[in-house]
Amino acid sequence: MRTLVISDIHANLVALEAVLADAGHWERVWFLGDLVGYGPNPNECVERLRELEPLALSGNHDWAVLGKLDTDEFNDDARRMVRWTRNELTEDNLAYLEGLPPRREAAPFTLAHASPRHPVWEYILDLQTARENFDYFDTACCLVGHTHIPTLFALDEAATEPDLYLVGHGDIVDLKFGRSIVNPGSVGQPRDGDPRAAYALLDSESMVWEFHRVAYDIAETQARMRRHKLPTRLIERLEFGM
Ligand code: ZN
Repeated sequence: MRTLVISDIHANLVALEAVLADAGHWERVWFLGDLVGYGPNPNECVERLRELEPLALSGNHDWAVLGKLDTDEFNDDARRMVRWTRNELTEDNLAYLEGLPPRREAAPFTLAHASPRHPVWEYILDLQTARENFDYFDTACCLVGHTHIPTLFALDEAATEPDLYLVGHGDIVDLKFGRSIVNPGSVGQPRDGDPRAAYALLDSESMVWEFHRVAYDIAETQARMRRHKLPTRLIERLEFGM
């Protein structure tokens, strides 16, 4: 089944619409968490995602907005966005977020926002962390978000150490080689130096995964953020993809 895999929308509706327009035909959507936080359109993003009837997770920013996670480890801008977002969201949209788990299985895949070991908070950015996390899921492949960096950690059958691949637009991976932890990158706030929205398409029968990027109207998202007087640093970082 052709599956659109998206993560870390972070209330950036313009980026989400660009992804949906670019992705073409798909049969279902998997969303890996962090629907809100940072961006100017939290209600619109929750409502747009809900229309797609996705298999969805919650992320650490969603949890913070719901009051399920302490914001001590957030920087000042992120904490400010948590408060702003909580005030903006309707009761109905808060209830939708409340119902999302941070980890679930869809065999032969495990879906976790951050990592299978610590689904809400851990960043899988290095080989050591990835290697340890391979012990925390039973399926062949685990899909994660959270770092906002498209990546593939691959553990082929003969190897005991995973390999790390940083990936770009158009890269195609045959996931049948062994076990993997795959991250599609972020729709609404990319952090790999490429400001384009990131997403992936997965054919769950052939196990072929495609990484995609699509340009969106960053200036429009920035204008919406300025209108709400959101933090300058968060507005500026969008155009650098950092
Ligand atoms: Zn995020």
